[in-house]
Amino acid sequence: MAQPLWAPWRMAYVGERAPRECIFCAATTGDPAERLLLGSTGASVVMLNRFPYQNGHVMVAPRRHTASLPDLPADEHADLADTLRRALRVLETVYRPEGFNLGMNLGTCAGAGFADHLHWHIVPRWTGDTNFMPLLADTRVMPQHLHEAWERLRVAFAPLA
Ligand SMILES: [Zn+2]
Repeated sequence: MAQPLWAPWRMAYVGERAPRECIFCAATTGDPAERLLLGSTGASVVMLNRFPYQNGHVMVAPRRHTASLPDLPADEHADLADTLRRALRVLETVYRPEGFNLGMNLGTCAGAGFADHLHWHIVPRWTGDTNFMPLLADTRVMPQHLHEAWERLRVAFAPLA
């Protein structure tokens, strides 16, 4: 049986330089492939995690730059919740995982890599996948692998808009 993951997205950040810009605010600017933008709605964006802990590790964030979930206006939260739901459906279809870890780290002390802009993590899970975890955590993500995942998911997320 797969072990539960606890803030796995944090581990890949060890040793990484802190980015200067907010990746969620920048998501809809410039080249979507470079930004790893998968799709967007009126109030939310869906991105591939640049430091994935698993295939299909996706992040769903509001367009609004805020660290506070309670501060998010109700209509924008409704959009975020719906986008999260739809992202799960897309990942179910594309990756056919056996389960998901779904989580939000609020605050740096809670493990948020980008604490200033709240975001959901969606990590697909398969039975026994933790066997690979130590290996993955120590391995640099191949840009090509990331790009292939982006291309595959970008098509699947196209109906989101
Ligand atoms: Zn932001």
